[in-house]
Amino acid sequence: MASILTAPQAKAALTAIGFDNAGRSLAVAVEGFQRGWNLGSALKVDGVVGEHTSDALRLSLKRHTVGRSTMSAHFSFVEFRCKDGGAFPECRRIWMLRAHVRRLEAYRASVGVPVRIVSGCRCKRYNAKVGGATHSQHQFGCASDVQPLRTVQQRRQAKLFAGLGFKQSNQKVVHVDSRDLGGHDLTGGTPSAPTTWVYAT
Ligand SMILES: [Zn+2]
Repeated sequence: MASILTAPQAKAALTAIGFDNAGRSLAVAVEGFQRGWNLGSALKVDGVVGEHTSDALRLSLKRHTVGRSTMSAHFSFVEFRCKDGGAFPECRRIWMLRAHVRRLEAYRASVGVPVRIVSGCRCKRYNAKVGGATHSQHQFGCASDVQPLRTVQQRRQAKLFAGLGFKQSNQKVVHVDSRDLGGHDLTGGTPSAPTTWVYAT
């Protein structure tokens, strides 16, 4: 019968898969894990290590030890960790929205090759430091910068993301987000009518 992980066991598993905050704020790390986990049915996001979360943690850790992804079929939590280097103690480190990760999986399937995540979560202070927009969707765990693989026209047709940022030079999409699901959709973007903008590089 499945057992519930002890706090030290949960902490060790979370640390191994990229939650470098598990030691100082276990409940925050558990919440981040529950929020993004997509290797089975959605977990209740309550920061508590119950039976389902224990099973999920065991599965992610097992996959991690054999070099497989920990979050979804092809993506791992650590890829989305805020890149502030641990400079800001209030940073939750990894808080991706499961629904956005599902869209990334669909995106990956449509392009047929691995999709590298350039940037995922950004806490408020790190976002300010890198000059992100005030209401950047990265702060809400529902955005990712991706390597440029498809043009904005192709991405519009795919109707997967509610926000698309692309490069002026080659029209390739470098930012995708699910602002329609993150609770801070100030532009009204949806997958069928995404908000788009251009980066002048
Ligand atoms: Zn941060």
